[in-house]
Amino acid sequence: MPVLKGRAWAPPKGQMIRERLDSVNSRISLSAAKRGLSREAVTLVSVTKGAGVSDMEELLGLGAGDIGENRVREALLKHRVIGDRARWHLIGHLQTNKVRDALRIFSLIHSVDSEHLLIEIDNEARKIAKVQEVLVEVNISGQEQKYGIPPEDAADFLRRVSPYRNVRVLGLMGVAPLVRGPEFARPYFRRLKEIFSEAAHLGLPANGEMRYLSMGMSQDFEVAIEEGANMVRVGSALFKE
Ligand SMILES: *Cc1c(COP(=O)(O)O)cnc(C)c1O
Repeated sequence: MPVLKGRAWAPPKGQMIRERLDSVNSRISLSAAKRGLSREAVTLVSVTKGAGVSDMEELLGLGAGDIGENRVREALLKHRVIGDRARWHLIGHLQTNKVRDALRIFSLIHSVDSEHLLIEIDNEARKIAKVQEVLVEVNISGQEQKYGIPPEDAADFLRRVSPYRNVRVLGLMGVAPLVRGPEFARPYFRRLKEIFSEAAHLGLPANGEMRYLSMGMSQDFEVAIEEGANMVRVGSALFKE
């Protein structure tokens, strides 16, 4: 074994990520099982904002191929190294002046929160002959949250997206408020699931479908899955101690 002068031994970083991913995966399995679902029914989006490309490579090697980033600029730099070996998810707010760049790399944009943004995505997507898959962000936590369509306007918004042929809405995304514990987030997730099911029931949107319900982060993804999430966005549980 090599002698490391003056340095405490630490486990290789890859090993820690592997252990954390294993733990997150088994927690997802347990929560999915409570709904009678298999692990595969829930997509884990590993949120790598702030993480380096070597950690991302590690995740990819372990089969975690869905990557979530919240800034277009940071994602573009990482994409130069990682390329399309990952499926890229944009989870943060998207400004209209970044749409063109975002369309180059992201498979799914979770954060569509205005018709203005939707129109811009549609325009830019048409130029490159892409049909961009998106989720509509719903503001389930009220005052605390800056972005998202008000819950009471969600159905109306989904009715208005049909004319935009280069955007396909595939579901909803929400962020629960920062509360004292995961149980306190439960009613917010339940509300979003109700909006999701109601939209599906109404056949909305006409040129898309309610396929993905993206809700739940490190502190509350288990409760989110119990309440109907089939896509969770997990960062710190994979990267921080
Ligand atoms: C950062 C972020 C996450 C991941 O949060 P963690 O608490 O680190 O798991 C999920 N969703 C959004 C929108 C984020 O910005």
